[in-house]
Amino acid sequence: MSSPDVSTVVQPVTYSSDGPTVRFGFENTYARLPERFYARLNPMPVAAPQLVKVNAELARSMGLDPEALASAQGVEILAGNRVAEGAEPLALAYAGHQFGHFVPQLGDGRANLLGEVVGRDGVRYDIQLKGSGPTPFSRAGDGRAALGPVLREYIVSEAMAALGVPTARALAAVTTGTRVLRETALPGAVLTRVAASHIRVGTFQYFAARRDTDGIRTLANYAIARHYPQAAQSKQPYRALLDGVIGRQAELIAQWMLLGFIHGVMNTDNTSISGETIDYGPCAFMEAYDPGTVFSSIDTNGRYAYGNQPRAALWNLARLAEALLPLLEEEAGSEEAAMASAQEALGAFEPHYEAARIAGLRRKLGLFTEREGDAALIENLLERMGANQADFTLTFRRLCDAAAGPEGDGGVRALFADPEAYSSWAVGWQRRLEVESVSAEVRAAAMRKTNPAFIPRNHMVEAALNAAVSRQDFKPFEQLLDVVARPYEDRPGLERYAAPARPEEYVSQTFCGT
Ligand code: AMP
Ligand code: MG
Repeated sequence: MSSPDVSTVVQPVTYSSDGPTVRFGFENTYARLPERFYARLNPMPVAAPQLVKVNAELARSMGLDPEALASAQGVEILAGNRVAEGAEPLALAYAGHQFGHFVPQLGDGRANLLGEVVGRDGVRYDIQLKGSGPTPFSRAGDGRAALGPVLREYIVSEAMAALGVPTARALAAVTTGTRVLRETALPGAVLTRVAASHIRVGTFQYFAARRDTDGIRTLANYAIARHYPQAAQSKQPYRALLDGVIGRQAELIAQWMLLGFIHGVMNTDNTSISGETIDYGPCAFMEAYDPGTVFSSIDTNGRYAYGNQPRAALWNLARLAEALLPLLEEEAGSEEAAMASAQEALGAFEPHYEAARIAGLRRKLGLFTEREGDAALIENLLERMGANQADFTLTFRRLCDAAAGPEGDGGVRALFADPEAYSSWAVGWQRRLEVESVSAEVRAAAMRKTNPAFIPRNHMVEAALNAAVSRQDFKPFEQLLDVVARPYEDRPGLERYAAPARPEEYVSQTFCGT
């Protein structure tokens, strides 16, 4: 990419506005909250914006015109060079525990919330630019994002959406024409994200750290109205809010675990109150089953390893409960009662998570009914997968063939270092399947809707990013997006996307590149 030097002084660029006009129909509510909740500022213009991609289907679902977004005027808006009509750009204030250490002020250091749009589904969504320039929250950062991490977030968040996981989504990506300095100088990019909101556990912590109980109350009322309207009917709305967030996080983490997804940076500032997956950094999907799997280069102690994610989520939720204590105390009558209320709420996480996990694993194994011994059967399979370096995703996908009868089990057997480890387990599984009343075909079809054939495998993601960054070749990115958009279909000719990395292809680390 022929890009100006890092030291280029960026001037606002004027464009002709041919083509359809971009109409977002912004209806902003966060901008009505008190001024101390954010900093008002426009995105910082970039030198030479170029469109990488508009997510046409998502745009339409938001009532937006994808062609307008891809027009010269649309690209200016997506790059931050023009402020769309009705946008009220904000950088949000928040705090957070990063790898266990509390930072009282983080905030959007490289993002601007443009405003909110109510989608065709009636849900209010934030539209945010990420990588859109420095803000009062930038600390030592440059406010920018490199193309590689922007494309990773695009691919993985869209894959998660297609897999059925609550998630922020990618509406568009543009390159900036300016390099950003990381370990090397890399092409810069801006991602346009769509999320149910950007309220984080860390947003509550921001006000709690300032002993700003009015701020906590205002934020809690806002979160209830936007995400947990039923809580407003409760006798204890703030306790109901806490219960709601805990419930959605339990469900979310169970979904991650059932797909082998590793977030990588489960800090409290990356934990959404709405229950969506947000802030994709050095995330990746596990290949060979191993609860200790870590990809993130910054997670040196494995704090956010695959198998630690439920515990990390609960820890984050405990920080939310702490931040809510002043409100819980008003509801419960005393500090002691508030503590007990918070403990009780947190106590619900593990059973909720475990129930969601076991129900999901039952579906993955084709078990429509609940029987004693199911949990042991499931754990035994996972143990054998771990001992035999079996690929997590493919094992479950190939079990769909084996579910039709033992003659279909060649594929899954081959994934185990010792195929007998599978076969001796499968005797018990086949016996268990006989108790089910559904036909083998119905069972296998149901299993194929819950066990994906395609995940964004790390080496494929890496290859797509490399092609884009080093050769300006976006075809592998487009191809991978197409593959992960239909994860549950077998698609002849695309087998290499379903296969685990060969040893020489394996990517053991991911970098957030911030
Ligand atoms: P993250 O680890 O990406 O969730 O970011 C943690 C915090 O660092 C947030 O407050 C971000 O806004 C901020 N941050 C990350 N990268 C940058 C950057 N390049 N410039 C400014 N702030 C950043
Ligand atoms: Mg973050």
